[in-house]
Amino acid sequence: MAKRDFYDILGVNRDASEDEIKKAYRKLAMKYHPDRNPDNPKAEEHFKEVKEAYEILTDGQKRAAYDQYGHAGVDPQAGMGGGPGNFADAFGGIFDEIFGGGRGGRSNVYRGADLRYNLEITLEQAAFGTETKIRIPTMEVCDSCRGSGAKSGTQPKTCPTCQGSGQVRLQQGFFSIQQTCPKCHGTGRFIADPCGACQGAGRVKQHKTLAVKIPAGVDEGDRIRLSGEGEHGINSGPAGDLYVQIHLKPHPVFQREQNHLHCEMPISFTTAALGGEIDIPTLDGAAKIRVPPETQTGKTFRLKGKGIKGVRSHSHGDLLCHVVVETPVHLTERQKELLRELEESSRENSAHHNPRAKSWMDRVRDFFAAT
Ligand SMILES: [Zn+2]
Ligand SMILES: [Zn+2]
Repeated sequence: MAKRDFYDILGVNRDASEDEIKKAYRKLAMKYHPDRNPDNPKAEEHFKEVKEAYEILTDGQKRAAYDQYGHAGVDPQAGMGGGPGNFADAFGGIFDEIFGGGRGGRSNVYRGADLRYNLEITLEQAAFGTETKIRIPTMEVCDSCRGSGAKSGTQPKTCPTCQGSGQVRLQQGFFSIQQTCPKCHGTGRFIADPCGACQGAGRVKQHKTLAVKIPAGVDEGDRIRLSGEGEHGINSGPAGDLYVQIHLKPHPVFQREQNHLHCEMPISFTTAALGGEIDIPTLDGAAKIRVPPETQTGKTFRLKGKGIKGVRSHSHGDLLCHVVVETPVHLTERQKELLRELEESSRENSAHHNPRAKSWMDRVRDFFAAT
């Protein structure tokens, strides 16, 4: 049989845009898809033809070769796929679009759902890594019926509504829409006498305990994948994955910012004025900071490498200590006397001792003078 012209097959002009080709393809693919024409062997032939034409004409290079040399310009086998099974798979893409996530239409094998588990850990556990156990609900194969869902001594039957395909077609106006069979929920089986232990589900809810290794350096929102620990698949489909999502508990001293740590460091105003040494905590023990004389609120001391080493980084972040000078409270009469004396002694030369306050006062005065 002579090969038909690709443009004729799709019913488009030779200068059709890619969009026009796609549109034509969809229409014809809907019409000839073997799932929709189970009794018409010709449909499969048409379908292959349409698919081949589409593949050639949406590939810029192949289309150019076809335009110039005709069928000889393109590999006649290109895009044909193997047997029917093969091209049904290759065709999955467009039917996902049309049927909203179709699973191949003919198979009732489903991958289990992925699950998420929220795990709260301390900053220290995140920094150094930890191993913990989590208990998660899971659906396990029912022991009583060994997963068949049928009462012992009986067998599930083929679903009468969908004849075992797991899918039904509904006519909705012009379109015929394929849907999961409402009677068997896509399993293709019908259980007349359900197993008492699992109510026919074939699976029962249980709990399982899993050991989770948290690598050092994880951060808020990181996910650890436990492959195959999600929900079981249906009809021997593969299990989904379990994602352990990390959440950090608030820390009494440190705030984390990526791999840096921040902490507030209140110091007395005498230490701020005279200087001194302050003990500060770090994730790996106490450290000392030498506070120089005349240290102001807002000054930041950076301790290199005292932060966290991220999971994917090669070095540690820093620890940043932010100074807050604390005004003394609950003073005795004697202490107040000393402070008044200090005030007295610095009043004459206040611009020298409190330059910021002086300059601010000057600006305030100028502001009022100008208004
Ligand atoms: Zn059972
Ligand atoms: Zn059914």
